[in-house]
Order: sequence, then structure tokens, then C-alpha cells
Amino acid sequence: MMPSAISQFIHPALDRQGVSDEMRHLMITPYREIKFGLPIVDHEGGMKLYTGFRVQHNHSRGPFKGGLRFHPDVDLDHFRDLASVMTWKCALVDIPFGGAKGGINCNPQDLNQQEIETLTKRFVERLDEMLGPDHDIPAPDMGTGPQEMAWILEAHSQDHGFEPGTVTGKPLQLFGSEGRTQATGHGVAFVTRWACENSNIDIQEASIAIQGFGNVGSYTAQFLHDFGARVVAISDKDGGLYHPEGLDIPEILKARQQPHEKLRLNELAVSAEQITNEELLTLDVEVLIPAAVEAVINEDNVEDIQARLIVEAANIPVTSEADQRLEERGIPVIPDILANAGGVTVSYLEWVQNRQRYSWKEEKVNHILEETLHQAWNHLTSYAREEQISRRLAAYTIGTQRVREAIQLRGF
Ligand code: NAD
Repeated sequence: MMPSAISQFIHPALDRQGVSDEMRHLMITPYREIKFGLPIVDHEGGMKLYTGFRVQHNHSRGPFKGGLRFHPDVDLDHFRDLASVMTWKCALVDIPFGGAKGGINCNPQDLNQQEIETLTKRFVERLDEMLGPDHDIPAPDMGTGPQEMAWILEAHSQDHGFEPGTVTGKPLQLFGSEGRTQATGHGVAFVTRWACENSNIDIQEASIAIQGFGNVGSYTAQFLHDFGARVVAISDKDGGLYHPEGLDIPEILKARQQPHEKLRLNELAVSAEQITNEELLTLDVEVLIPAAVEAVINEDNVEDIQARLIVEAANIPVTSEADQRLEERGIPVIPDILANAGGVTVSYLEWVQNRQRYSWKEEKVNHILEETLHQAWNHLTSYAREEQISRRLAAYTIGTQRVREAIQLRGF
């Protein structure tokens, strides 16, 4: 049932707790998996059939929570892993949500607005009562953003009334939270700063390479630049830019007009060398931040990694084989379930505000974000130090233990 990297990260954490085979099976098996056809009339008047997916992994500690990904390569195995990651992430940062993930196997760049709106609303109609503020709460992920979340709100309210806490990452005009769009990158930047301190790397001197320049990558670059770091390389799926003295991140963001992908990076007229994604990953930098897709650091390139520290802004960007090798090589990896937890943390704050029908100022949101992540960071690093284990194993041990205790207390 549970494939690939994620089970290899969970089992050692469960071994440490002496978890029975039955409990282990329960914890890794999704609560529910749904897969369905989504037909639409395309812009040429023909029929186009897509597939929608939602995996609800665990809700022992609160409603299912997890992003929606619109990407041509997604499948059920993919979402099983990503839903499981959400369960352990919410538990690690101690917010009262479970884990889910889903999406549609489409390429949004091949679709017009009308088609994306239809697909999004149809997706919600199919899931119907399985979604809702106390059941399952979607949020943005790759290929989706505030506009898709607004369509989800609209589709769900048709039969269930206006309840903004149904979905997070909404536009501000529809009761999204201040600070949510930038929250994941903001959190990655905080965690990178603490991890640098911990590894005796001066962030003001540090050279940083970031793969992926969408929502997460672009805001990570912006905040790290604001912290005084030298972001020397960035990339999107078509390639990247490199400048050993540091890229002018504000100029690049301005050239793209908004910190979200519109133009290809290698089409921008900025002073930098062009590099490939493969070259970016093996640059001689202090910090490497994969912020795009899964498994980019793997058996094929792990020996070529030169960074002193890796911060996982994407979900599951390092395979379990590569993770083991990095540990042997003494290159610390800050795991995704902490590094990119800023997004779901502010999603939780958005949900709290929605349920109170009240909005907080951005300073308050950012303050709670930093405090929540810092608490999780301190707990994780001291536990890893005391037990002499990797931060990955420490993170999974803390997360799985909290979920296991919730399952046992609630009973079956
Ligand atoms: P996005 O769609 O906004 O941006 C994705 C970026 O990755 C783009 O720059 C794209 O060009 C690039 N990319 C795509 N395929 C690539 C490839 N094969 N090689 C190199 N670059 C590639 O997505 P996002 O929301 O920034 O999400 C990025 C990662 O962060 C994903 O793993 C996602 O699950 C994770 N994440 C996102 C959030 C969030 O709040 N959006 C929260 C937690 C984790």
C-alpha cells in the first residue's frame, strides 16, 4: 500500500516506539482514497477527460488537511505519499489537523481560465460532503493558488452555505489570511536561518541555491535576501540563473511583476549566467534549497552534492537512499515536515480567523508563524541531539508518536 520514500522514513520512527504490526499498518494506510473521471468541454468544443484524486490519510488529531496539485504527472501513489507527509507535518508542528492531498492530472499551462474553473468546481462537486471545515480542508499546492481556492469556496457553498473555513489560501477579499500566500517561503527562510546558526554558517555570508521559483521558491528567495543572504542561483522547470556574487532578487521579482511564475526565468533580461537544474543542485554553495518537485536529490546525483546544508522546501525532494548517503557524508538535511510547515501553519490561522469571523493583522500572523515553527524547531533539534539521531528521524518520531497517541486515546 505505502510505496517509496515516505515509508522508509516512517518505519524507523515506528521501530523506535516498538509499534505493533497492526498499529503500524493502521498508521500508514490511508483512511480513504478517491479517484474519479472529470470530463470537460475544451476550448475547441471537444471532450477532454481528466482524473481527480483525493487521499485522506489520517484525521486522528483534526480534520483532513492538504493541498491540491494540478500537474500532468500525478497519480494515486503520489498523493498517498503526500497525504501521509501532511499527517506527520501537522503533528510535528502541533496543529489540530490530519493529513490529506489531492489534485487533477492536468497541466494548467495548457488550459484557459474557464477550463480550470470548470475542472476545479467539478472536483469539489464530486467530493461534496467529504469536504468542509470539520471534514477536509484543501489549500494551494503546485499549479494552484488563491483563485482556485476561491472557486472551491463557491462550489462548496452551493449546497453547504457560506463557510470560508472550507478552504485555506483564499484571496484576502474572500477572507484569506494576511501572510498566507508568502507563509511557506517565509517559514523556509526562518528555518534556514536557525539551521545556519546551528551549523555555524553566517547567513549574511552564506551562498544559497534554490530550485523552483514558484510560490515557495520565490518567497523563500525574497525573505532570505531580506535576511542578508546571497541567493546565487534560482531555477524553474526550464532552467535557471546563476551569479556567484548573488542574484538581484528584488529586480528578478519585479521583472516577473509578481512573485509567482509568469515568465520563464531564462527569458528575463538580468545579469546572470544560465544554468540547468542539474547544475544548480550540485553547485558549491553553503545552502541548497530544493523547492520544486519530489526526488530531485537521489542516488544518481547524491555524490555530487557540494552544499553544506540542505533545507527541504519541496515535499520529499530527497529519496531515502540519498538521505542515508547525505547523513553518512555529514551533510545535514532539514526535513520537509518542518521546513515547509509554514504554509499549513498559516492555513490553520486562516481557518481559526474564518471560524471566528474575524481577521488578524499581518504582524500577528507572522509572529505566531515564527513562534510555532521555532517551538517545533527547538523540540526537534534538542530531541535529535539527546537521542543522537538525524533530524529526519527525530521529526518523524515526534510526529508519529503524537498521531499514535491520538489513535490510542480515541480507540478504534
Ligand atoms: P508552484 O507551482 O508555485 O511552483 C513550482 C516551481 O517548480 C515552478 O517554478 C516550476 O517551474 C518548478 N518546477 C516544476 N517542475 C520542475 C522540475 N522538474 N525541475 C525543476 N523545477 C521544476 O508550486 P509551489 O506551491 O511553489 O510548490 C513547490 C513545492 O513546495 C511542492 O513540492 C509543494 O508540494 C511544496 N509545498 C508547497 C506549499 C504551498 O503553500 N504552496 C506548502 C508546502 C509545501
